[in-house]
Amino acid sequence: IRILAFESSCDETSTSVVKNGSEIESLVVATQIKSHARFGGVVPEVASRHHIEVITQITREALAEAGCTWQDIDAIAVTYGPGLVGALLIGINAAKAASMATGIPLIAVDHIMGHISAGQLADTIAYPALALQVSGGHTEIVLLKDPTHFEIVGDTRDDAAGEAYDKIGRVLGVNYPAGKTIDQWAHQGKDTFNFPRAMIDEDNYDFSFSGLKSAFINTCHHADQLGQKLDKYDLAASFQAAVVDVLAAKTIRAIKQYQPKTFIMGGGVAANLGLRERMEEEIKNLAQPPKVVLPPLKLCGDNAAMIGAAAYNLYKEGKFAGLDLDADPSLELPYAADYQ
Ligand code: ATP
Ligand code: MG
Ligand code: FE
Repeated sequence: IRILAFESSCDETSTSVVKNGSEIESLVVATQIKSHARFGGVVPEVASRHHIEVITQITREALAEAGCTWQDIDAIAVTYGPGLVGALLIGINAAKAASMATGIPLIAVDHIMGHISAGQLADTIAYPALALQVSGGHTEIVLLKDPTHFEIVGDTRDDAAGEAYDKIGRVLGVNYPAGKTIDQWAHQGKDTFNFPRAMIDEDNYDFSFSGLKSAFINTCHHADQLGQKLDKYDLAASFQAAVVDVLAAKTIRAIKQYQPKTFIMGGGVAANLGLRERMEEEIKNLAQPPKVVLPPLKLCGDNAAMIGAAAYNLYKEGKFAGLDLDADPSLELPYAADYQ
């Protein structure tokens, strides 16, 4: 089964041909980061404009790179939410137009299910699995009962982890998106500031990062007022240590409760080297460690291959979309019945 997938939920326009939900035959990612960096974040109007400019061209590229024609494609997949409505609609309309013109069936994919399904492109997933989804807009612990039934068991009460990285990056003068640079700086500094680890001991799987963000910003402003210069490497290391401590503590606790066969990380922040090392280390030390599946760095951020992977699971269950498919900007995975 060969799926052509579209992703355009935020600031990356991407197309990909994925075979059997696990083999990438082609992947094209057109990033708009430079256009948004000077505004310090994604500007929705600018995003939509860029998506529409490249989508036809990168659709041809994905087919050509895979050595395919439309005849070789069994389904067309597209992200329908969550994300920016105008950005989502560009991908949705491209996918619908292609489906209508060729008669190839359409599959609608949840972007977050896509991020988590990126694991399939790295290794086989045994179920039940547990995922730590950490991205620009989401920080969730997700239980995967099977390849298409995902439930949230932990969530952030305020900022997402990626969002916190981007906001503190701004204070340090790092361009959006700041995560990768802060991660690099963190490896050159020490945890000297001891920032708060909110909710770390609470008996649930939820997170809160706004207090950490405020503590960080206050520390920087206070030093500014006193005319002190703080070490940016130590600041980055201290911030990252707080984020990773909380993510690791909550995730390990969830693994102990749910006993998954596989642990997966997904989303842009899953590219964080400090977090990847820490999770591997802590899981290795468990009495019954699940298999650890970390997508390669380039599949952590937004890309269409992850959408093709998730779509394959829906294809096998006959879950197709109609040509009346619409964007759902605030789409959310369901919460588990025991979520408090
Ligand atoms: P969502 O997927 O929640 O809808 P999004 O698509 O904008 O949001 P992604 O593209 O998955 O999010 O991830 C982007 C985020 O990942 C940014 O906040 C960026 O700073 C962060 N990020 C990227 N690399 C790293 C890294 N090495 N360490 C920490 N954060 C990182
Ligand atoms: Mg992005
Ligand atoms: Fe994303």
